[in-house]
Amino acid sequence: MHFDLFTLGVIGAAIGIAISISFTLLGLVLRGLPALRIWATAFWVITAAALTQGLNENGSLLSTVVGGGLIALANALMLMGIAIHLRYPLRWRWPLAVVGLFVACQVYVYLSPPTQTVSALMFGGYSVVWDAWMVWVLLWRSPRDMRNTCSFTALIFIIDALFYLLRSVLVLFPQLLAHPPLDELLTTWNYLFGILSSFLLSTGFTLMLAERLTLDLRRLARTDGLTGLLNRSALIEAGARLVDTCRARGQACSVLMFDLDHFKSINDNWGHAAGDAVLNHFVAVIRSVGLPRGTLFARYGGEEFMLVLPAIEPARAAALAERMRTAVAAAPAVFEDRHIDITTSVGGATAVDADVEQLVNAADVALYRAKHQGRNQVAWNSEA
Ligand code: GH3
Ligand code: MG
Ligand code: MG
Repeated sequence: MHFDLFTLGVIGAAIGIAISISFTLLGLVLRGLPALRIWATAFWVITAAALTQGLNENGSLLSTVVGGGLIALANALMLMGIAIHLRYPLRWRWPLAVVGLFVACQVYVYLSPPTQTVSALMFGGYSVVWDAWMVWVLLWRSPRDMRNTCSFTALIFIIDALFYLLRSVLVLFPQLLAHPPLDELLTTWNYLFGILSSFLLSTGFTLMLAERLTLDLRRLARTDGLTGLLNRSALIEAGARLVDTCRARGQACSVLMFDLDHFKSINDNWGHAAGDAVLNHFVAVIRSVGLPRGTLFARYGGEEFMLVLPAIEPARAAALAERMRTAVAAAPAVFEDRHIDITTSVGGATAVDADVEQLVNAADVALYRAKHQGRNQVAWNSEA
């Protein structure tokens, strides 16, 4: 089957428009993903660039300056979309400065057209710069848990860069391109490659979006909205793994359960917002005391918090509980410039050979005792 360049151009434009429409629609459905809107714009811009270049004669003002500028802009948008998606703080001014530089070069090319070889090398050079920049952000500035989809997208940009490098090398040997079939083949492949890479890029970006959504949902399902700590179910799940590991190694594991004293009266006297501020203050105080490595810190319920301390001597766990209790009592919460005194009761349990549920139940029994004995104290249960 033989495709002439016009047919390829029409197919490319149709696919470009289809990708742009699907990204725009996706952006309408999936809210709160700023990168999606930027990528949708990038695909529209790249389609407009392809149309501008395809519909105008090579070397015309529209094709050279406007078309070339639009391609640079599309690359800048893709790069910024990637950076925003990965939460890498890249400022708009840098990619836009490169776009400005590119447009200035293209104006120069328009006013005094260089040889075909030089202009092909320039275009190849621009493409490689953008590709390398995006690969760098994708592979070296992405969070570890998003590496799979980032690597896939980076691979597309690497193939793109290799294609343009190969093309530049071929352009340097005009005797090769003197054979009409090779020249024609290269031009056809240029079109086909453009279409294929747009399609693969849209797949790469879609996979990155899907991975981000999955990770965010998983994180939300495990996190307490007010304090940002693990929630109860995440604690039980992660705690079970931690305790089992300790058990297998014959190491002691401890659980500390905290319950703020007379918290209801704080809500009643100061209001619910003050109660919320006290909960966050409590978390900050516990953190300031210092959590041993590998500790799980969770909000177990309303004003109940839990620490799972792996591989820790019981005496050290007890001393830590006491330090935390005194730190809480010594640091009143501040709400609207007024000080709110707080105290906490702590129930602790340690065991070498117990599962997480047994440890939590034992700590709960100890906590009940601490409350019963007058609050603002640590009680210990060694029967887990
Ligand atoms: P005790 O010393 O016996 O623990 O007394 P208490 O008042 O702390 O006991 P209780 O467990 O009955 O009170 C817990 C209160 O915590 C009840 C509930 O209204 C409040 N609470 C639970 N979650 C939140 C929250 O997210 N924010 C605020 N402000 N209050 C909460
Ligand atoms: Mg309670
Ligand atoms: Mg309480």
